[in-house]
Amino acid sequence: MDTLKLKLTKCEFGFKAGPSTVVSIFINDKNLIDIVRKIELPYATKEGCPQIAGSYSGLYAFNLWDEMIKIRKPNAEFSPEVLDCTCGCKGCWPLHLKIEEKNDVIVWSDFKNPYRTNLTNPDHNWDYSKLGPFYFDKGLYETEMKKLRQWAIESDPGIPKDKVIKAGKGYTEQDVIDAHAFSINNEDELMSETKCGCFYCLEIFDPKEIEEWCGDAEGSALCPFCGIDSVIGESSGYPITKEFLQAMKEFWF
Ligand SMILES: [Zn+2]
Ligand SMILES: [Zn+2]
Repeated sequence: MDTLKLKLTKCEFGFKAGPSTVVSIFINDKNLIDIVRKIELPYATKEGCPQIAGSYSGLYAFNLWDEMIKIRKPNAEFSPEVLDCTCGCKGCWPLHLKIEEKNDVIVWSDFKNPYRTNLTNPDHNWDYSKLGPFYFDKGLYETEMKKLRQWAIESDPGIPKDKVIKAGKGYTEQDVIDAHAFSINNEDELMSETKCGCFYCLEIFDPKEIEEWCGDAEGSALCPFCGIDSVIGESSGYPITKEFLQAMKEFWF
């Protein structure tokens, strides 16, 4: 079994003066960035640019938490990212992977950098098959995720900290916070669903009624009744009920 440890560390991003606090990932006490650099170095050297090997940085806690909770979606196509570009722009140079749960073991595998995968020039396709798979004990893994969740809540500028969160039947206070991530970039999921709800105007409706999306690549649904990007679908795993939507509204608005 492998071990996973998350630590808050400081780094300097290109776009911003001064240090930023990000999450560093340690597997078997080695920084994941160093493990990846070893794998990438022969390819980067062949490209004449050895310095791009392992040129990753950790994500902000709230970004990493978003990536981690997206794995709960039944959408198997989604591969979360755990590292990204040293410049600080998300999506600029990311490292993706697959996270699966098998018999109380969490498996990290299929690492890839989308900018070094499936390219027409095969010299630029980097093979990560020797990176992992890593096997983590589920109990210990969840301890790390709880830590991450706490950091995410403390650092996310979008999460209100002074409001009371209500738990209800079938959902916890934490669900009210976590469900918010499913209102972002949710076009793919919503298109395959039959029921969704808005946590601003509290309407419950068929996603086919959605006409507008905001954001780039994968859009975020705008509610057809109130125009706010506050729509979550059933595949989020959270109850699409007036009560739950109301609890979300009280917290988020
Ligand atoms: Zn960049
Ligand atoms: Zn609405």
